[in-house]
Amino acid sequence: MYVHRDFPEFSWSNSRHKTFLECVRKYYHQYYESHNGWLYEAPDENKAAYRLKNIKNIPILLGDLIHKAIDWQLKKFLNDKSLFTEDEMITLITRSLNKAYLDSTKHRQLWFNKPKQYQMLHEIYYGNGLSKDAIAAAKMKLDLCVKNFFTSKTYQDILTKLEMHVLHSEDFQTFEVNGVDVFVVLDFVYKDVSQEKWIVVDWKTGKESEDDRKQLAFYALFLSKQHNIPIEDIILRNEYLLSGKHQEYKLTEFEIESAQALMNDSIYYMLKYLEDPVKNMPLNIEQFEMNPSRKCQNCNFKEKCLSVHDSLNG
Ligand code: SF4
Repeated sequence: MYVHRDFPEFSWSNSRHKTFLECVRKYYHQYYESHNGWLYEAPDENKAAYRLKNIKNIPILLGDLIHKAIDWQLKKFLNDKSLFTEDEMITLITRSLNKAYLDSTKHRQLWFNKPKQYQMLHEIYYGNGLSKDAIAAAKMKLDLCVKNFFTSKTYQDILTKLEMHVLHSEDFQTFEVNGVDVFVVLDFVYKDVSQEKWIVVDWKTGKESEDDRKQLAFYALFLSKQHNIPIEDIILRNEYLLSGKHQEYKLTEFEIESAQALMNDSIYYMLKYLEDPVKNMPLNIEQFEMNPSRKCQNCNFKEKCLSVHDSLNG
């Protein structure tokens, strides 16, 4: 049930932490200013922040759509429904991409009023549109990711394992750490009964990064805290859909404790930006400093920073 709140509830997630590290002004727009921006009577700056927060660039949108299609396929399998072929999955995702392009170019006013129901592409909102090269690159990435999903270790395991217990499929989960709600999105968690191990799968549509292992530590922390699963019984698996490779890790207690310490530190610094921690009421926007960097190019909120620069210059 929807409950109106003047300020959002405080919670922690790895993506919130990354935004906080990147630029606290962006963090303010994303996690505070956008709150209630969906209300008709909300002030313009909140509406604008909410709208901008929902913009996606092609790699992010494509990644989301691939994740959704995979989740759908896995749920179909678990419910004994007929499965998508590779071509059907590609067609499904292409249709959504085309809709996003149409929304961004032809239905701008509809998106302006209902930014959750219509899509706006970053490349169109802030750029000159989509080049032929960008479209060809997205198409190639889509074909590769879908093809590699069908041959991935996880999908093949799921199709052939007789005894498998599925815990989560693309679920938004929360658990509590020191009184703070922590959000994790688990792509797929299953128990390989023959090995007596829990496998946590994270589908990756981007390139491999050093951060991938750290992110998985939060999933292991969730499973051990929420489901009392011993760390030594958890296998963490990144499925890299672009290359078709996968990488498995077993984390140590030390790595899990480090993840927890990072989370505690991160929460501590976030709380310093609150005027009233009980209400989660933020300090004034000026206290959230801008951190200009090359990342501003891809920031959803750059029009807000440009308008600040414009007013300072003149
Ligand atoms: S445009 Fe740059 S400075 Fe402004 S909010 Fe985004 S990341 Fe921060």
